[in-house]
Amino acid sequence: MTGVNVYFIITIVIRTLLFLPCLLLSAHAFGAQAPAGPSYLLLSHDPAFLEEAAKYSATVYAKGRIRLVKLTVPADQLPPELGRKLREISPSEVYSSPAAPPADKTADPAVLALTARVDARRLMGYAETITMTGKRSAGQLDLSASSGNRAAMDYIAAAFKDLGYEVERQCYKERKKDSECNILARRRAGKAGAKTIAVVGHMDSVGHENAGADDNASGAAGLLEMARVLAAYKSDHDLLFIAANGEENGIAGTYACAKKLKASGEMSRVAWAINMDMIAWNRDGVLDIETNKEFSAHAEWVAGLAAIYTKLKPNITIPAWGSDHVPFLDAGVPTYLSIESWADHNPCYHQACDKMASLSWDYAADIVRLNLAVIAGKSGLTPLKN
Ligand SMILES: [Zn+2]
Repeated sequence: MTGVNVYFIITIVIRTLLFLPCLLLSAHAFGAQAPAGPSYLLLSHDPAFLEEAAKYSATVYAKGRIRLVKLTVPADQLPPELGRKLREISPSEVYSSPAAPPADKTADPAVLALTARVDARRLMGYAETITMTGKRSAGQLDLSASSGNRAAMDYIAAAFKDLGYEVERQCYKERKKDSECNILARRRAGKAGAKTIAVVGHMDSVGHENAGADDNASGAAGLLEMARVLAAYKSDHDLLFIAANGEENGIAGTYACAKKLKASGEMSRVAWAINMDMIAWNRDGVLDIETNKEFSAHAEWVAGLAAIYTKLKPNITIPAWGSDHVPFLDAGVPTYLSIESWADHNPCYHQACDKMASLSWDYAADIVRLNLAVIAGKSGLTPLKN
């Protein structure tokens, strides 16, 4: 092979490499099936919804909690039910990446003592009781006054009361045979100028019998375990635990709760909120911490605590959608969702097989430890003598 030929071949190869992306892009841009127009964020990953959405859109980006689509039909041909669960968004507004470890990983012995009180077996016990209440969808309250949803409300209210909290049954919807209510538990600091730290987790499920162990008996159990541990402390700020109802029916309970907190003036005192939704299915120890752009620094701080006090591998994801953190974020409260890694989430999500057997309570206990460390970082906590 002569030098000239080698030069010629190299030139052709370089030109092909340079132009290949342009050729691919133009094929994509002008292809008959290539969707155009704005990107939309999917506000539900329910398997039935995804199947429906695929009929009208094509996925253009998918990473963890973020799935962007472009429409394959004109926007006015979208079924309204589907359109309500799409939010137009620029791809530059989304973010999903592992959090950077903190520069200083020194642990506070008082926080270590607090997190050491978390009991994975007890956490599992709370979740098992909630899972076994029957059919736990808020919609099923109409079908029977003995529904699992009612049994879950009663059990959680009694558990908070036994732990010494002030319990409120916050009902927001009268049904034919029953009322749909959130269960609120309060511990007041009794100090002038005290703020409120809210912790929320929904207790309802999509309604399969004795299921919804991960979604979201796990998060509701996390609330009870946090409340149990914190019952042994005096807090400088008020604590408000919200076992939310109707999350699977459009985040109904937490929207109603936020409205009532605004009406009573209490929302202006809520300084931080934490949401736990699906905290017990684990493969690789990754935890998603989800919030909106304006609170990304707060999420990074939370992720730093995970590196100090837990074995979790935190991933930050932006923006927030689809769970009980959204109404608090809408109210301007720094809030994050703690949720199992969505890149590899529970394969039984929203199905009858969402049972206790496949769940990891050591992982869930670590998420509870993280959320307790966050509260300790926000509020002075003094152990009560017993
Ligand atoms: Zn959920």
